[in-house]
Amino acid sequence: MKIHFLGTCAGTEPMPGRKHASIAVESGKNIYWFDAGEGCSYTAHLLGIDLLKVNKVVISHTHMDHVGGLGNLLWNIRKLVIMRKQLPLHGGIEVYLPNMETWEGVMLILKNTEGGFKTDYPINVMPVEEGVLFDDGIMRVTAFPNSHLACLNSPKCLSFSYLIECEGKRLVYSGDVGKYEDLDAVFEECDGLIIETGHFGINTAYEYWKTKKIDRLFFSHNGREILNYPEESQEKVKKYFGDKAIICEDGMSVTL
Ligand SMILES: [Zn+2]
Repeated sequence: MKIHFLGTCAGTEPMPGRKHASIAVESGKNIYWFDAGEGCSYTAHLLGIDLLKVNKVVISHTHMDHVGGLGNLLWNIRKLVIMRKQLPLHGGIEVYLPNMETWEGVMLILKNTEGGFKTDYPINVMPVEEGVLFDDGIMRVTAFPNSHLACLNSPKCLSFSYLIECEGKRLVYSGDVGKYEDLDAVFEECDGLIIETGHFGINTAYEYWKTKKIDRLFFSHNGREILNYPEESQEKVKKYFGDKAIICEDGMSVTL
C-alpha cells in the first residue's frame, strides 16, 4: 500500500509548507482517506491522486485541524464527477465520523452551494464506534477509543486511533492521543505507525517506541518542536531511531 501524506501539521496557525492533518492510503484502485485537514483534496489532486478513487473517508475526531477540508474534499469529488462525466469508481463515498453533529454542519454548508449539492451517487455517513469499522476485502479498519478528548471511559467516546490492515501489513494511525500509552490497546507490533507529535516531543516518542516492535515510524501532525527546530529535530530522529523513523512532509508518499 502507498501512504500519501497530504497534511503533516498539528493544529497550529498557518505554517509555511504544511497543512493540517490528512493522509490517503492507496491500495490498487482504492483510496482510503484518514482525516481531512484544510486543503487535503487540493494537495492530493495536484499530486495526481485521483479523487474519484476515494472509497472511504475516516475521521479520528472532529477538531478543525482534522475536518477543515472535509466539505471541500466532498465538493471536489462532485466537481470532478461533473467535469469528467464519470461517477466515483466505487459507486459512492462512505464517511466515518465520531461526532454526527459535525456532519449536519458540513452538509448544511454543502447544501447551500451550487446545485444544492445534489449528487448522482450516495454519500453515506456512519458514526465511529469501538471495533471493526469496515472490512471490504481490501482493507480492514478497527477503531480504538483514545484519551485525546475527555470522554475515554464514557459510553460515547469522540476520539479514535485506527489499526489499518491491508496487503498483509499492519499500519497504525494514532490520530491525536492523550498519551502514547493510549496506543497500547491497538498494538504490540506493527509494520508502520503514523504518530502525532503535536502534543508530545521526539523524546517522548522515543521512550514509547522502545517498548514496542514498530518497523517504521512516521512523524506527522507535527508540533512546535519539529516546526520550530527542523534541523535539530532531523538530527535527533536520526540519532534515536536510525533509519526507522522519518519526519513526514506534505506531499510525501511512502510504500509500506
Ligand atoms: Zn489535531
